Amino acid sequence: MMMENLGSAKSTSQIIKKYGFSFQKRLGQNFLIDDHVLDKIVDAASVGKDDGVIEIGPGIGTMTQRLCERAGKVIAIEIDSRLIPILEETLSAYDNVSIINADVMKTDIRSLAEKDLASLNVKVVANLPYYITTPIVMELLEKRLPIDSITIMVQKEVAERMKAKPGTKDYGALSLAVQYYAQTYYAANVPPNCFIPRPKVGSGVIRLDIRKEPVTEVYDEDHMFEIIRASFNQRRKTLVNAVSNHASLPHSKKELEEALKKLDLPAAIRGEALDLNQFAALSNLLTSKDLYGKISK
Ligand code: SAM
Repeated sequence: MMMENLGSAKSTSQIIKKYGFSFQKRLGQNFLIDDHVLDKIVDAASVGKDDGVIEIGPGIGTMTQRLCERAGKVIAIEIDSRLIPILEETLSAYDNVSIINADVMKTDIRSLAEKDLASLNVKVVANLPYYITTPIVMELLEKRLPIDSITIMVQKEVAERMKAKPGTKDYGALSLAVQYYAQTYYAANVPPNCFIPRPKVGSGVIRLDIRKEPVTEVYDEDHMFEIIRASFNQRRKTLVNAVSNHASLPHSKKELEEALKKLDLPAAIRGEALDLNQFAALSNLLTSKDLYGKISK
């Protein structure tokens, strides 16, 4: 049985008052107070008894309660030690939850997934602190952890960048990095009045389903992402100019033009027009010793 439902302004205010809790802006503390939104996030993550959920930043445990109701097991990682006694109260009815008082960036998520949640499908679900969204998401993706999906509330503009397609204004290095590792599903828009305190920006719920197979074949991932970063660093420039100017890449204009030609792409193309397969093919051409021999595309 769920104890007192926290998904309202009234019950959240009561808990905060009881413990004399004050919000820390620097920790991105904006707590959800909308039942409908909370259900939407847990529905989007499609959490069931076969799932082990890692929740980042449980706050006072509002979403954690719902996750405990539905999941096999929940591990909640909260950096703010003032919230731990609150969580112990609000989650006292559940025996399938562990609370860890730690910084998620310093937590061994692999060990939690492989040992503590062994035999369960691991899903990350979180209303993320916005000051650290991209580092958390990239850490989860790049380490190739044994997780199925990541369902997160993020700043709406960040969700838009994560799911953006080539040629759109939001398309950039974050879109390519996220889409390389995961398929994106946008679940909901969430306005500021669903939180206390209200954030200045709108929010969105996005699910990232981790790819089991690579979406494209690339010889040197680091090189491809360096090309991508170089292309979007100077968005207004052509890809040839942006990449040839980039200090950490050794490619000349001529070399880049030849590679683009080989890929049937115009010499004046900008990075924002290339999709992930094209960036991979370009990187493969540039990293192969024999520009014209090794890859025939
Ligand atoms: N899940 C709660 C909710 O939806 O109401 C709170 C979400 S609030 C946006 C973000 C939470 O993440 C806060 O409780 C904050 O203290 C916590 N947090 C911030 N930085 C963190 C970090 N590096 N590691 C773990 N938790 C963190």
